[in-house]
Amino acid sequence: VIQINNLHKAYGALEVLKGVSITAERGHVISLIGSSGSGKSTLLRCCNLLEDSQQGEVIFKGEPVAWKGTGHGRRPADAKQVLRIRTNLSMVFQQFNLWAHMSILQNVMEAPLTVLGRDRAEVEKSARAYLDKVGIGDKCDVYPAQLSGGQQQRAAIARALCMEPEALLFDEPTSALDPELEQEVVKVIKDLAAEGRTMMIVTHDMKLAADVSDTVVFLHQGLIEEQGAPEAVFGAPKSERLRGFLSATQ
Ligand code: ATP
Ligand code: MG
Repeated sequence: VIQINNLHKAYGALEVLKGVSITAERGHVISLIGSSGSGKSTLLRCCNLLEDSQQGEVIFKGEPVAWKGTGHGRRPADAKQVLRIRTNLSMVFQQFNLWAHMSILQNVMEAPLTVLGRDRAEVEKSARAYLDKVGIGDKCDVYPAQLSGGQQQRAAIARALCMEPEALLFDEPTSALDPELEQEVVKVIKDLAAEGRTMMIVTHDMKLAADVSDTVVFLHQGLIEEQGAPEAVFGAPKSERLRGFLSATQ
């Protein structure tokens, strides 16, 4: 679904991604792990073009992003292509980012209505179905502040699903939650994985990564240091840095 080849990204002089290649195949779950500042969020944001990059390819369903300019002046050339890619790679953030002034149902319906221009009655039907699916079908008419963190995050997941995206991108979806609320979000993510959703998940939760991933990718200072099946990455890590990282997160 999404393929990144030799991607380079810098903020000014700070090189954050130094040639990263990664492929998320349909139905696969990739977890991105690594220390703070290793470039995990940046990589996720480069996939859906929320961030520019200076070199390398981003390919969505076989369709390479068209660029204009080079280096720090490089930008996507085709706004329609950016919109297509971004709406097909729905993102879920650590801090939920729900709109405080809208009810939960309105939050879920907003982008399909305004960005995709879908029919209101159909969007409402599917929004209610996705809210049911994540276990908060009874919360349609309340506002985000009236929900627990775990419920807000599940609403954010329903909102992402309601875009009917090709893949879901999660940036530390459970990091802002208390342990007991974390589990309700983990359960939803596991259900989505079991359904065969394509997902890329940045996480500090090694158990989640081990349980849901087809591939675990360990980033270190803007490069992929090691990747493989969870059994290999967690059970028999080859790199010294990965071993150090894993023992520090125990
Ligand atoms: P964490 O686990 O803390 O979320 P991360 O692996 O997601 O870390 P990134 O957020 O991708 O790391 O950041 C990688 C590097 O890029 C860091 O050194 C960070 O300070 C820097 N960085 C991130 N965003 C910006 C920005 N908008 N402007 C300048 N530097 C940035
Ligand atoms: Mg991050």
